[in-house]
Amino acid sequence: MFEIFKLGFLTVTFLDVLDITLVTFIFYKLYSVIRGTIASQIFFGLIVVLLLSFVAQAANLKAVGWILKLISDIWVIAFIILFQPEIRRLLVMVGKTPLLRLFVKSDESTIADIITDTAFELAQHQHGALIVLVKTTGIRGVVETGEMINSKVNKNLLRSIFFPRSPLHDGAVIIRNDVIEAARCTLPLSQETTFNGSPLGMRHRAGIGITEQADVICVIVSEETGSISLAENAKLRRGLSKDSLRSQLLFSLKVSKEKPSSKIFDFMFKHK
Ligand code: ATP
Ligand code: MG
Repeated sequence: MFEIFKLGFLTVTFLDVLDITLVTFIFYKLYSVIRGTIASQIFFGLIVVLLLSFVAQAANLKAVGWILKLISDIWVIAFIILFQPEIRRLLVMVGKTPLLRLFVKSDESTIADIITDTAFELAQHQHGALIVLVKTTGIRGVVETGEMINSKVNKNLLRSIFFPRSPLHDGAVIIRNDVIEAARCTLPLSQETTFNGSPLGMRHRAGIGITEQADVICVIVSEETGSISLAENAKLRRGLSKDSLRSQLLFSLKVSKEKPSSKIFDFMFKHK
């Protein structure tokens, strides 16, 4: 059917070309989504195992082949466990329907305003801060590393938490919808150690790290320089102005609530 050409015994049809193009596309997208994250190292490990098992089979190395077959037999389960955060993110984006908006109500514009004002007041006093805003699924594992707060977001509470002599100032605050869930949380560190050539401190690495593993946006106020950064999808933007911080927060929080389909589009086509 739709035969294109013949190579000896091999007949290449239009469907074969489509098939190979699709597989190439899927692998390329998978790679670009996880590039720069810890998952990419795991992904390469997996490819090495697959290549080795191919070589072992071709060279008829029975014992090596047996071990590698054992690994590749369980690799689907290992894959699910190792890529759990990425898979969860993808499924949440695919499965989220606009119907959920009826149940989850929060005013993104007030949250964006409060966070922006707080960040700039903290920066003025050179008080460091790390604020994680959950976009879709919660990050219970991280919340549990800190102290539960469960209070409606407000500027003075955030200012008090990040006051340097407050017992809660260390670590990150987690905000979901309009509630401060917890403070003093420990975030996973990113493997990135520099940004545009300059070294990244722990606070900034932690801020990027959580966006590599969960669908969140993270505001970082530097204690050293008073500058304000935003991390999202494993990328950092430094030195934001008040307006750009507010509009970016508003955009990200709104998009995550209102346009699940565009999120899928983002996930598939904009991760470079
Ligand atoms: P700054 O510009 O504010 O100095 P920085 O990126 O240089 O930030 P550090 O000076 O190393 O970072 O900041 C240390 C602070 O970062 C700690 O006091 C702590 O509050 C926070 N921090 C460090 N590691 C983590 C982590 N894994 N999770 C959450 N917060 C962290
Ligand atoms: Mg520092």
